[in-house]
Amino acid sequence: MITRHFGIPVTSPGAILRREKDLGTPLGLETDEMLQRGDLVPDKTIVKLIEDWLHLHGGYGFVFDGFPRTLPQAESLGSILKSLQTSIDAAIWLDVSEETVRSRISGRLQCRTCGFTTSVGSAQFANRPICPYCEGRLERRSDDNVGVLQQRLREYNSKTQPLADYYGKMSILRKIDGNRDRDAVFGDISQIIEGKASA
Ligand SMILES: [Zn+2]
Repeated sequence: MITRHFGIPVTSPGAILRREKDLGTPLGLETDEMLQRGDLVPDKTIVKLIEDWLHLHGGYGFVFDGFPRTLPQAESLGSILKSLQTSIDAAIWLDVSEETVRSRISGRLQCRTCGFTTSVGSAQFANRPICPYCEGRLERRSDDNVGVLQQRLREYNSKTQPLADYYGKMSILRKIDGNRDRDAVFGDISQIIEGKASA
């Protein structure tokens, strides 16, 4: 949605890794096993993937979805951006309750190709699970289940929560209530991006 609206490239470690897996690379297969177990992929691997991506796509602005997730990742990103003579304008924190996370994950459908996400409850896709943007196949992610979710929440509380302080101190943290519907959340994110683009 951000790419279509603003023409800014968006990526996430998950999207990069899913592509590696589809291509059948050793890295893709190895990290897929970790994700199936609910483990986080090592920081070093994630940072390397993001760095490669930035060199290819990051010239005129970029948005990372779900990155950085740990303090070491954030610090590495800081030095990569410094070497590229740029910096982060805003760190958007989507504040979502555990209950919301649970209900969304249990009904999530995702496009294998572009990452577009919708819900199994959406009537539009019930009979024809095809992505409206790229015609890719919409499917359940095999790592979306309750056991994996518990593990992810633990990782999140111990490793990701400290990032709020880190970006708070840099005065670029922006919190958004993520329990609302898609349009409301997108409206808030748009305002932040527009504010930065015109600044
Ligand atoms: Zn798609």
